[in-house]
Amino acid sequence: MNTLFRYSLLTLTALTCTLHTADAQSTRRAKQSVQSTPVAIDSVQWRKDHYVVNRDSAYADPRIALRKLMGGNRRFVEDKSIRPRQSRRDLTNTEKGQKPFAVIVGCSDSRVPNEIIFDQGVGDLFIIRTAGQVMAAASYGSVEFATAALGSKLIVVLGHQSCGAVDAAIKRPDVPGHIVTLVNSIKPAAQKARAMGGNMLENAIRQNVIEQVNELRDLDPVLSKKYSKGEILIVGAVYNLGTGKVEFVPETLKGLPDFQTSAR
Ligand SMILES: [Zn+2]
Repeated sequence: MNTLFRYSLLTLTALTCTLHTADAQSTRRAKQSVQSTPVAIDSVQWRKDHYVVNRDSAYADPRIALRKLMGGNRRFVEDKSIRPRQSRRDLTNTEKGQKPFAVIVGCSDSRVPNEIIFDQGVGDLFIIRTAGQVMAAASYGSVEFATAALGSKLIVVLGHQSCGAVDAAIKRPDVPGHIVTLVNSIKPAAQKARAMGGNMLENAIRQNVIEQVNELRDLDPVLSKKYSKGEILIVGAVYNLGTGKVEFVPETLKGLPDFQTSAR
């Protein structure tokens, strides 16, 4: 196992690493919200405590981007959100273009607001949302656009607890209109979950994420090539509505290709 490969096996323990690069805008916002803290703002300890990772570094390297998402979610769970890059000036700065450091393929569910649960700001996340994060041609094209045209290198498929679309794929009620498209897409994951035992809905939600991650990794011609060449990473996660915690699915963190640092 070479060094790069080991490094690409990202785990939550990576969050304990000291983060040496400051996110100036995040820090500026945080100064306003934590003035009473005894820990010196901008100190190494403060940045470590708040899991602040440089935004440009996250854009350049999906392993850092993943840590940035994990850190932001940790702030959210601990009620330490710093709400970076959300000022009027930040909006003006985005007029010239965008460099989203992560693509989120998530459910439309109103209880899963991506920028809030990952504590990120304007221009950070390129988000594709459909019920059950079911994908079709327009979703594929959107992800491809983010990676090929905008240079995003991390793609996260984000399922969530108590997903109504997955529940429908398990129970198979009569549904009107195009909702059947959602049910049919999630059905294979629901069938596998049925054979697993335990909590069928939770298993189906997780299995659905795993299958969607594989779907994107195998998607020709853009994503499959970029993924196999180590130009992008594609992983999966499940959001817990009750705790606010995003758990990255271990199966989707194993065997990641070596990321080529120079890849663009
Ligand atoms: Zn859902």
